Amino acid sequence: MTTATDAVNPYLLLTPGPLTTTATVKEAMLRDWCTWDAEYNTLVQRIRARLVALATPAPGFTAILMQGSGTFSVESVVTTALPPTGRLLVLANGAYGQRMAAIARRCGVACGVLDSLEHHHPDLERLDNALSADPNITHVGMVHCETTTGMLNPVAAAGHIVRAHRRSFIVDAMSSFGGIPMDMDAMGADYLISSANKCIQGVPGFGFVIARRSVLAPTRMQARSLSLDLYDQWHTMEQQNGKWRFTSPTHVVRAFAQALDELEIEGGIEARHRRYCENHALLVDGMTRLGFAPLLPPHLRSPIITAFESPKAPAYDFQRFYAALKAAGFVIYPGKVTSADTFRIGNIGNVYPADIQRLIAAVAKARFW
Ligand SMILES: *Cc1c(COP(=O)(O)O)cnc(C)c1O
Repeated sequence: MTTATDAVNPYLLLTPGPLTTTATVKEAMLRDWCTWDAEYNTLVQRIRARLVALATPAPGFTAILMQGSGTFSVESVVTTALPPTGRLLVLANGAYGQRMAAIARRCGVACGVLDSLEHHHPDLERLDNALSADPNITHVGMVHCETTTGMLNPVAAAGHIVRAHRRSFIVDAMSSFGGIPMDMDAMGADYLISSANKCIQGVPGFGFVIARRSVLAPTRMQARSLSLDLYDQWHTMEQQNGKWRFTSPTHVVRAFAQALDELEIEGGIEARHRRYCENHALLVDGMTRLGFAPLLPPHLRSPIITAFESPKAPAYDFQRFYAALKAAGFVIYPGKVTSADTFRIGNIGNVYPADIQRLIAAVAKARFW
């Protein structure tokens, strides 16, 4: 199976979202959808229940949908979950961990950062020591797949430590949820955040949070923002059977429901994970044969997105490389690592091993240096 490109879709998005979606997901948006009735509300309730089921088999969890891109959902958690006296500790090893800390600082939430630099896993002994030393830390935040480098972080091991210290654990699983099997209860997470346009393979327009009810319930009136008040959004969805407080992205929600159906048809998260792993293995193998070096060693990589070191050849130029691949039907992603010159290629979305093989052939042709 490959994903056809045509006049309407002249290239595949090999990016961490928005990503390549199926024609049927896009078709779900080709009509006007009403919002103030039972049919729509039932659809929202069903999406919420399905998200909880994908996140954990354990009881006691709920899902909240939130307008905006994924960052809005991270912001809604950080600015709602922590009480005025709370303190957040972020384990950061890339731009998205740093962004969680930046949200806290901007919104007046006390925050510290344990920075392990972009090439390393967070130091969990330092986490353990920090939690022992500072009883004022109430929450720990961490990114599951750090999309900056493509690193897969040890969330379950960190969650184990956070739980042992009886603090709350916030996991940004934006780029991994739906593409990597996980059980948020087993990983000790109280909040797990993702968005419509990543591994569920929907289109951009809202994010979602799966939360432990007993942790979310006491957060009423804590939010530093009205529109991003996670508790209020939850309360309204619960009390009014799936109603959003403010205009919901109806078309995007319809497309998301279709994307969830298609995830199920594919065989669920396990099957999607296998496809992504196959894509990733072909990508790394093909690029390595062409002389490109992955930034991270194998044990730190994710099957989501891969950072490659930029070629050292003086004639190499990312913009030119990018344009050549785009003309050949593939959009890749610029680098985001601060300490190295890289570019990134994602392999999530409606993308198949045969597409990756075509990509490798296109890369071989596109090299001009
Ligand atoms: C995509 C992503 C986000 C959210 O980014 P938006 O541009 O706001 O959608 C947050 N964290 C991670 C790890 C991501 O990959």
